Amino acid sequence: MELVIKTKQQFDFVDITEQIESSLSELKVKNGAVLVFSKHTTASLIVNEKEEGVEEDTVNFWKRLLPPEGDYRHNQLRKDDNAHAHLLAMFLGPSIILPVKQGRLDLGTWQRIFLVELDKPRVRRVIVQAV
Ligand code: ZN
Repeated sequence: MELVIKTKQQFDFVDITEQIESSLSELKVKNGAVLVFSKHTTASLIVNEKEEGVEEDTVNFWKRLLPPEGDYRHNQLRKDDNAHAHLLAMFLGPSIILPVKQGRLDLGTWQRIFLVELDKPRVRRVIVQAV
């Protein structure tokens, strides 16, 4: 199945844990795993905690790693401004796999699933598939 998510800004962290959890019964997964896949080249999926300061620290780390205003060929050739978002999406990867036990996500106490917007606000599509 496909989730459709509207992001609000660059570096938006959208918590999609509940949406994935509620797709499990439709997917008829009791015990096994689900693949969660971003169909985009400038949006990724991560697993982490929704805790004060973590998002901000993560974004600051990403900006040090790949400054949005860096000198990128893609931006010069395409007159585009999202090379850093493409590179960061490759660094973070397009998919995650999550364990399912007794029809529920088998996550750690503080783990949440986030779609992260690395470019401008967009409509994003995420595949959730039983494996
Ligand atoms: Zn681009």
